[in-house]
Amino acid sequence: MAKYLTNKETQAVLENVIMGAEKILVLVSPYIALTRTLFSRIKATAEKGVRVKIIYRIDKVRKEELDRLKAIKNIELKFTDDLHAKCYFNEKEMIITSLNLLDTSEKNWEMGIQVNRMYDKEIFDKAMRDVQTIFVDSASLPHYVMRAKAKNIKPKYGNGYCIRCADNIRFNVDKPLCHDCFESWDEWGNKKHTENFCHFSGEESDGETCFEKPILSEYYKKARAVYGF
Ligand SMILES: [Zn+2]
Repeated sequence: MAKYLTNKETQAVLENVIMGAEKILVLVSPYIALTRTLFSRIKATAEKGVRVKIIYRIDKVRKEELDRLKAIKNIELKFTDDLHAKCYFNEKEMIITSLNLLDTSEKNWEMGIQVNRMYDKEIFDKAMRDVQTIFVDSASLPHYVMRAKAKNIKPKYGNGYCIRCADNIRFNVDKPLCHDCFESWDEWGNKKHTENFCHFSGEESDGETCFEKPILSEYYKKARAVYGF
């Protein structure tokens, strides 16, 4: 049955979740700055063959922290911009909590719920499916982009462009128009209506781009490599 956890209990159960993992360990935490103990636990778990997946927020984790995690084999790191959830699980136990993977969390007021896959199957499975969705939606960018993002430098290809007015917008092949252009998009349903710019490079597209195909073909491969869509 689900169990309430205080901060101290959350920390203890978290350690057990990490050490008890036999097949998979998933750590969802916007902020990551691991204590030495927790880092060693995660490393040992990965090294015994457990697949470790970590999702974090790109602007909240330092490059040094990412580097030491990336050096461990069997660890897959992905990030997303809008992450606020914290959730930790292996194939049997899960914690849904306010606690980030931070070495400073000890002094905070945190709460958590421990969920067992066997006894709380519905909660466990629903939360796991949510995390899978976050994972699929998250990116693992090439290093130079990550470094630029981590340092808060605007990366060369870090932003998208509206295919109609070339305004700087978030890169998203499914939403290549800025808010205003989308609102005034009078070609509803005609995703082939020609537009003016490339969503990836911001260059004039001479009618080669449209809602359905927002990136100039010469940049398509590169855009895929950078954003992994
Ligand atoms: Zn626009």
